[in-house]
Amino acid sequence: MIPFDFSYYKVWSAEEAVLLYHSLRKKGIRPYYYAGGTELITLGRVNEVHADAVIDIKGIAECKTLQLEHGRLIMGAALPLAKIRESGLFPLLGQTIGEISDHTARNKITLGGNLCGHIYYREAVLPLLISDTEVVIASRSGKRSVPLHSIFDRRPQLEEGELLVQLHVKSDDLELPYYTRKKRRQWDIGYPLITVAAVKKDEKFRVAISGLCPFPFRSESLEEILNDRRRHPTARIEQAIRHLPEPISSDVEGSPEYRVFVLKNTLLDALEALEGEGHEHS
Ligand SMILES: Cc1cc2nc3c(=O)[nH]c(=O)nc-3n(C[C@H](O)[C@H](O)[C@H](O)COP(=O)(O)OP(=O)(O)OC[C@H]3O[C@@H](n4cnc5c(N)ncnc54)[C@H](O)[C@@H]3O)c2cc1C
Repeated sequence: MIPFDFSYYKVWSAEEAVLLYHSLRKKGIRPYYYAGGTELITLGRVNEVHADAVIDIKGIAECKTLQLEHGRLIMGAALPLAKIRESGLFPLLGQTIGEISDHTARNKITLGGNLCGHIYYREAVLPLLISDTEVVIASRSGKRSVPLHSIFDRRPQLEEGELLVQLHVKSDDLELPYYTRKKRRQWDIGYPLITVAAVKKDEKFRVAISGLCPFPFRSESLEEILNDRRRHPTARIEQAIRHLPEPISSDVEGSPEYRVFVLKNTLLDALEALEGEGHEHS
């Protein structure tokens, strides 16, 4: 049971959502964009999340769009992960999000919720960080479209009350050769020890990682070392791991040393898969 009362609002446009958010805030009410609502239910129960009002964004048509248009795949932020996976439109994203929680939860958890929520793994962002991705954001001053990498630093850096409306991925990036692997300590379902998503684009290896640190990341310096093909993959990986961001997570899933060990093996698999030929399907 959620141990606090809140009012419920349903909105039909991004503009309405943002205006309502700010008018509630002005009255001292703490609003919460309600997409899949799974964080409110799971973290609300243990008082890690609190809301006085929820603004349900699932009625906003542009937040539910899923289509190819003008050379881009348009994905609404309120799409459930299961729907994106089942569409088969972006195989790397589909396979990566297919490892998040279980099917029942994936029918609820949304793309925007995975990116903007409190739980920091944000595995759905990995394929988006290594693709040419634009995000559409609604704020009080209207909508703007910006490259994902320009606003993503550990999490989407949104101002209070800003709404993530859509993600646009260039069609060329949907069918790149890819590798994606989630490694857990022991169970089939659960948070990652290490998740790696990688693509080969213009003969260059791009990689994004979750689970290693308490935030997901893509690192240019790491990629530069991994792309130096004059050296053997294991030598590149040994050097690359000296450039990892900090801190490395330490929890029941694994120590920092164990995580780095698993990362090295996973990167080697990824390099072997992508420096060979073709798509990788596990
Ligand atoms: C059982 C379970 C297992 C999980 N396992 C994993 C896992 O293995 N890997 C992983 O990466 N994650 C995992 N998660 C985390 C999950 O992806 C996030 O909790 C995610 O926030 C849930 O999405 P939601 O749509 O239900 O979000 P909601 O609960 O609706 O919202 C979460 C937060 O995001 C904000 N928000 C939502 N949509 C938007 C938007 N469009 N614009 C701006 N802000 C927005 C809300 O205001 C709220 O603060 C798991 C969660 C659960 C409950």
